[in-house]
Amino acid sequence: MHRRITRRDFLIGVAITAGAAMLPSQLFAFESGLKQNSADYYPPALTGLRGSHPGSFDAAHALRDGTFWDTAGKPVETGETYDLVVVGGGISGLSAAHFYRKIAGPGARILILDNHDDFGGHAKRNEFRQGNDFRLGFGGTFSIESPAPYSAVAKSLIEELGIDVPSYSKYVAKGLYRSFGLAPKIFFDRETFSSDKLVVNPLRGGATETSDKPDGNAETWKTFKTEAPLSDQTKRDLQRLLFENKDYLPGLSSEEKKARLARMSYAKFLMEMVGVNDQVVRVFQAFPHPLFGIGIDAISAQDAWGLNLPGFAAMNLNPTPGKGMNRDAIPNEEAEKYFFHFPDGNASIARLLVRKLLPNVIPGNSASDIVMAGADYGKLDSASFPVRIRLNSTVVRVRHAGDPASAKEVEIAYANGGKVYKVKAAHCILACWHVVIPYICDELPDPQKDALASAAKVPLLYTNVAIRNWTSFQKLGVSSVYAPGSYHSNFTLDIPVSIGGYECARKPDEPIVIHMMKSPCQPGRPARDQHRIGRQELFMTQFETIELKIRDQLARTLGAGGFDPARDIAAITVNRWPHGYAYEYNSLWDKFWLEGGELPCEVARKPFGRLAIANADAGAYAYTDCAIDQAYRAVGEITKGS
Ligand SMILES: Cc1cc2nc3c(=O)[nH]c(=O)nc-3n(C[C@H](O)[C@H](O)[C@H](O)COP(=O)(O)OP(=O)(O)OC[C@H]3O[C@@H](n4cnc5c(N)ncnc54)[C@H](O)[C@@H]3O)c2cc1C
Repeated sequence: MHRRITRRDFLIGVAITAGAAMLPSQLFAFESGLKQNSADYYPPALTGLRGSHPGSFDAAHALRDGTFWDTAGKPVETGETYDLVVVGGGISGLSAAHFYRKIAGPGARILILDNHDDFGGHAKRNEFRQGNDFRLGFGGTFSIESPAPYSAVAKSLIEELGIDVPSYSKYVAKGLYRSFGLAPKIFFDRETFSSDKLVVNPLRGGATETSDKPDGNAETWKTFKTEAPLSDQTKRDLQRLLFENKDYLPGLSSEEKKARLARMSYAKFLMEMVGVNDQVVRVFQAFPHPLFGIGIDAISAQDAWGLNLPGFAAMNLNPTPGKGMNRDAIPNEEAEKYFFHFPDGNASIARLLVRKLLPNVIPGNSASDIVMAGADYGKLDSASFPVRIRLNSTVVRVRHAGDPASAKEVEIAYANGGKVYKVKAAHCILACWHVVIPYICDELPDPQKDALASAAKVPLLYTNVAIRNWTSFQKLGVSSVYAPGSYHSNFTLDIPVSIGGYECARKPDEPIVIHMMKSPCQPGRPARDQHRIGRQELFMTQFETIELKIRDQLARTLGAGGFDPARDIAAITVNRWPHGYAYEYNSLWDKFWLEGGELPCEVARKPFGRLAIANADAGAYAYTDCAIDQAYRAVGEITKGS
């Protein structure tokens, strides 16, 4: 594990050195304006720790800790005045700028400020080059998909951007991995399950990030039963759970059952109703991680039923959603069909929006040519264009120039490169993470600040590992891995999509990107506590530690197929999202969600003076359609009557 990885070190080294070598020119560029203007500035190609990358959160954390203004100095007046300043350059912020221009006209002066070195928010593009091969990965927001159908507003924006969602089947090589005999598998690790073993996956339901779902047939179960390093008792319990048709709450109506299931965790349901042993619970523990960032100890049994987890087949639950069900757990056929995955995920949506706002930055004119188009970051923030996107800029204060009820302007202060600057605008849309808003916007009423603060996000790691080839996957017959006890609970070969001149890997000897995901959490505690602890863990963990975990996990899972991390890993990009998914309400932890009442997100998103509030947090729904819908609403609020 500790062997030198010369070639891989070289590749990562190049990226890091490029970053380091950027420093003098960055400084120079900063003096003459902005580091995003330096010639070698191209964040998508950086590897190592991305997402909330080093340097992106220090100002915000100093604000949180109450120390920022001790050393910040007086804001420098830029003299810039805008019609609209948008805080946050994610899909919500970019959509807000787009919707605003549609109303105010193409000459409207808009400034978008974001603390990251790249635009797109969670929708981030990761690029990898290995010799002549070019591979893309998604650093966050993965696909156009949502458990509920896209609204008319969100759909029409997608269409306006030229994305033809129903055409997706043209681009995806759907049966590619199956044609090589690959299937989803489970990896049992020795720390949790007594020995390391990769076995077929018989568990239907739950969530995977690819369309590559376990088939759950009887043959698979038979193989699993023979090979899995589980006790005989566990296998008997699992068999009962998967195949026995039993009503675990006899004598109750469907509604009464759902009400009970909404108030108990799935782990409790398994242990106390089905009567399985705790090793079975460990098998299922990480199943909901990709959706909720927590395990089965913290999601309700009712949601588990909606997600098609086992145990409910004979409970005669009528198909209508029960009270307090999470929206992710409510099946919807129309929504399921509305799916489109770009090789860089919804970063393509962010890039299409940027192209609409600033046609000079990204060349081209279609939703497919966006995939291979480069981006000229030096043109994102130019006084020659009405729309400007200023990166590496953390907004630290937003306040009205005078009484919010009558003020004609808002002043926005942001930190960039160790200094604070000030701009003015007729309106401001806060499309940033809601937890940040109380720290930057002191004027808001306290109940609104409390509601905003309650939207603490779900922490996640989205790791992309570029590998030399996937022959080890072929030898082991595996396309994706569920690893309930490992550092990353899921990993998968990239979805094979070729579009706009981008070619995915089609042969096992070609380079490919493996996508890995981790939800840091602390089972046994309330959901929000688990997220808080996980968030701290992510901020505290060094890239080197994560890298070692990746190498260890891949070596142990794929080693029997010949995988050698020292030889086969070409580059690693860890997209660290301590502030990841918008928090979605959960019947176990959010009483109002189960019993009714005003939702915190409704209180949080109320307009205030010349401010409106967007972001996916404003709908407590971790999806792109929500980010778009909330942007549309926010723009409607500030343009009402115009
Ligand atoms: C790992 C991951 C995977 C996801 N996968 C999917 C998916 O497959 N499909 C889907 O529909 N959704 C997915 N989502 C949900 C995703 O959050 C939304 O789809 C959407 O991208 C959110 O856009 P947004 O603009 O609301 O928020 P964000 O993308 O978070 O953008 C907000 C921006 O505001 C910035 N900001 C915060 N504070 C400040 C400040 N003080 N000053 C300046 N800027 C600030 C943030 O840094 C961020 O860049 C995923 C999310 C994550 C984290």
